[in-house]
Amino acid sequence: MSGLYIHLPFCKSKCGYCGFYSEPDAYGLTEKYFDALLKDLSARQSAEYDTLYIGGGTPSSVSPVLLSAFLEKLSAKIPFSFEESTIEANPESVTPDFLSVVREFGFSRISMGCQSTDEKVLKLLGRVHGRAEIFGAAELIRSMCPDTALNLDMIFDIPSVDNSVQMKTLEEMISLAPEHVSAYSYSFDTEYLKNTEPCGDSAFLDVKKALQAAGYHKYEISNFAKAGHESRHNMAYWRLKDYDGLGASAWSLKNFEGGRVLSGKTRDLHEYIANPEAFAETDRTEGVHAAAQELVFGLRMLDGTDFSLLKYRYGDAACVFEERVDTLVSEGMLTWRRENLCLTEKGELILDSVQEYLWGCLP
Ligand code: SF4
Repeated sequence: MSGLYIHLPFCKSKCGYCGFYSEPDAYGLTEKYFDALLKDLSARQSAEYDTLYIGGGTPSSVSPVLLSAFLEKLSAKIPFSFEESTIEANPESVTPDFLSVVREFGFSRISMGCQSTDEKVLKLLGRVHGRAEIFGAAELIRSMCPDTALNLDMIFDIPSVDNSVQMKTLEEMISLAPEHVSAYSYSFDTEYLKNTEPCGDSAFLDVKKALQAAGYHKYEISNFAKAGHESRHNMAYWRLKDYDGLGASAWSLKNFEGGRVLSGKTRDLHEYIANPEAFAETDRTEGVHAAAQELVFGLRMLDGTDFSLLKYRYGDAACVFEERVDTLVSEGMLTWRRENLCLTEKGELILDSVQEYLWGCLP
């Protein structure tokens, strides 16, 4: 199984909390960037992929004519017979022309960033769309692409925002009947909103309960799906399977026996266009560090990490975690389901600390 990720770093403006690489007002470079992506692809070894994910940035905001021409050239290079293909969109740029491209190239999923249905919260987050555009876009997607599954993204635990406001968002998002919901706890990574009042207790358990009551199952710490609509592409990330990432800031992962290599592209659009085949950084991980990656990433998933497989792959290196795993199990953060080590609900609330504690035993 291997996936192809394509990063389109174009956005109408920059949301203050966003950690992804994107450039507002760089649309004049779209054509050159698409040419660079095709050169980047030509330098890769894989001739076909199981899944495709076009993310960003805001893929729906680029010219549909240029997007279509790019996809045409892409489909001449690799078979467009993916098990799953996703394209990201933002409500304000979901247009009939964009959706015609989605339909023409048979995308099986649209992932739409909504974040909130509350006008004040949208402003606070620096989003360029209002609530009406969310509902309008969802309706247009359903009418023009009835066979395409819809994912909606939301954020909760936003500083200075009462969690009841975001629970209302969740209720309204569920009323749109998306097949998939990604619900992220607000991150302080960018220090955006750092001077606002922190929110109180996390709404994680309320969000989870509401989604489960509506028939979504939590298959990953932040991701909920109707049966059969789990994102295969993203599951491959969490299971550390091979993938190629094309574009500025994109990462690629290649496994080898006993470890893996992660390679990243420059976070500069101009540099990328000038030299699309180059990698800006490469990180090789093996032995106990590779085992640790697999263990902590696996804990994000409902099924957890198959510990016997970990031992089989990494031998004695995997045993280094046993003492700390026992402690976390006795404290009720982790539990065993047959050979799989999984988070408990208590553990879900402090996943970062659980992961940090496990990393802490590395030499
Ligand atoms: S639209 Fe999305 S990718 Fe663009 S700046 Fe906002 S959060 Fe980041």
